[in-house]
Amino acid sequence: MSFKTYGLAPSLLNALTNLGYSNAYPIQHEVIPAILQGRDVLGIAQTGSGKTAGYVLPILTNLQRRMVSKNRHVEVLVLVPTRELAVQVRDVFQLFSVGLPDRVRSLAVFGGVAINPQMIALQGVNVLVATPGRLIELVESNAVSLGSLQTLVLDEADKMMNVGFKDEMDRILQWLPARRQNLLFSATISDDLSALNRVLLHDPVVAKTEPEPETIELITQTGYFVPEEKKGPLLRYLLKTNDYAQVLIFTSSVYKADNVADKLRKNGIYAEAIHGKKSQGARTESMIKFKAGNLRVLVATDLISRGIDVKDLPCVINYELPRSPKDYIHRIGRTGRAETPGEAISFVTPEDEHHFWIIQKKMGKRVEVLNFDELNLK
Ligand code: AMP
Repeated sequence: MSFKTYGLAPSLLNALTNLGYSNAYPIQHEVIPAILQGRDVLGIAQTGSGKTAGYVLPILTNLQRRMVSKNRHVEVLVLVPTRELAVQVRDVFQLFSVGLPDRVRSLAVFGGVAINPQMIALQGVNVLVATPGRLIELVESNAVSLGSLQTLVLDEADKMMNVGFKDEMDRILQWLPARRQNLLFSATISDDLSALNRVLLHDPVVAKTEPEPETIELITQTGYFVPEEKKGPLLRYLLKTNDYAQVLIFTSSVYKADNVADKLRKNGIYAEAIHGKKSQGARTESMIKFKAGNLRVLVATDLISRGIDVKDLPCVINYELPRSPKDYIHRIGRTGRAETPGEAISFVTPEDEHHFWIIQKKMGKRVEVLNFDELNLK
């Protein structure tokens, strides 16, 4: 469906044309009209479905209609589980805000960095994208008031309930005006989410996209049976014999992420690691380089398996398998996005064999597993 049919602000249509977004994705088609009408929305959509633009476009249009308040109060709050997602969502708001007649200021705030610059930057912000902990600190220091909030968005809501944000969420919800629009986006419907949905949403429009068979269809999946001690040589072989422009490698622990990146560098392949124990500065820097295509190999924990969008990423490697099949889908879903094909390779040790079979069963798709021994690593 063409974006022209929804009544979005004209400058947004220009931006969409410039970006080459010709038609709305299914989730966008369902949620844009509902958000424009001021309805609450429950969007069940995976990352890669286009949900971010699905809420950013109508929210910006609504802000223009309301003439963006001049009272320097936050009107839109987007709560997200990770710093990386906060930055990414803020970027989408900023991307589309260029050219709007009424200026919209958006800001991302998150913990792990100094609070003072964020307090200063909060002046005149209309759209605040925040992780819960830092938001609470800012409200408690009177740096931000949420009393004029019009729209609340919870992005990756299932993850926010999982990772123990529940108490923080309860506190934040108390500070918000009772009359507001609530938009809740989640990849899955868990019990926690149903509870949250009941307290939060009033007569919501429920928009559900299928877990994108097409997107996974675009990913060529292969596995390698490989003993633990041969994973390093196999990884180097794959990186050297394939001319992937960029590769994202997943490990299951912080230690392993550092270790794999170190070993690659020692073998002449520049790589950086990103995980929860790195400083915020280092994480942001690696992410910016990777997204801009200036870093070829990034080794990561599941911290960035969700929600993170790297344009045209050709290859994801599971150096270690994730624990849950759901995480497997999230990880490999970093490639094969936005209609570009991608490749996902998983290393399967003898101990992993049964687990990998379960992953395939849950995914409903068989993955060809090759024998590491048959490769000529020389
Ligand atoms: P998201 O699920 O919000 O992370 O978006 C996934 C990717 O799809 C992002 O790279 C967007 O830039 C891209 N995208 C979103 N909407 C459209 C659209 N209507 N047409 C083409 N690409 C889109």
